[in-house]
Amino acid sequence: MKIRILGASGGIGAQARTTSILVDHDILIDAGTGVGDLTLEEMRAIDHVFLTHSHLDHVTMLPFMLDTVGADRREPVRIYAQEATLTTLRTHLFNGELWPDFSRIPTPEAPFMTYHVLPAGREMTLNQRRVRSIPVTHVVPAAGYLLSSARGSLAFSGDTTTTEEFWKVLNATRDLRHVIVETSFLDADEKLSRISKHLCPSLLAGELKKLNPGPQVHITHLMPGSEDDIMREIARHIPNNTPHRLERGQVFEI
Ligand SMILES: [Zn+2]
Ligand SMILES: [Zn+2]
Repeated sequence: MKIRILGASGGIGAQARTTSILVDHDILIDAGTGVGDLTLEEMRAIDHVFLTHSHLDHVTMLPFMLDTVGADRREPVRIYAQEATLTTLRTHLFNGELWPDFSRIPTPEAPFMTYHVLPAGREMTLNQRRVRSIPVTHVVPAAGYLLSSARGSLAFSGDTTTTEEFWKVLNATRDLRHVIVETSFLDADEKLSRISKHLCPSLLAGELKKLNPGPQVHITHLMPGSEDDIMREIARHIPNNTPHRLERGQVFEI
């Protein structure tokens, strides 16, 4: 399984792209602005999109991607998420007002997209690749994902503040090689981190104490302009085995 990071920022500007991860050629985890860097051919090949939650920085390219390649595809793109996330997409995004309802267009029988509920805690297998949804804690219902192949596993937190189930599932995963976890803000913004249900370096350090040693930890969703300062604060809290900053374009093979 080849995992390519398309976007790993908490915002936009210059080289920053919001959350999106391409798994092999056909699975997308979140559809942030990083999707806009894919070629038409790469976009056409995406059959499955797993969403962590409904926030725009994680879904914003979905309407454009479907509009751009929907007519060229034989099958609808399958969108997987928790029920609440899909309801938000139906009601507020693909509602025929902000954007066309591509779950009924061009025809209800052969639309550009189909919705599929994946409750938190459930796992799906796609050609021997396993995708498990894990509940996390954010201001809207949100999930992280555990991606597994025969060679190992990689976990992605999506957006979360302090949480429990995610770390429990990770500690029960023997072949866990990599963990991608968000840290959005500086410690000076701890209050904001708690209100918006994200993490700052001090909260991250507390979370990582829940994780058994072994996997490599990578940090994503950093606020543009504060990336270096956030990583410095993380290094101060976690001087040994300091997590790496996740980079756009980075590739993991598991
Ligand atoms: Zn969010
Ligand atoms: Zn986000």
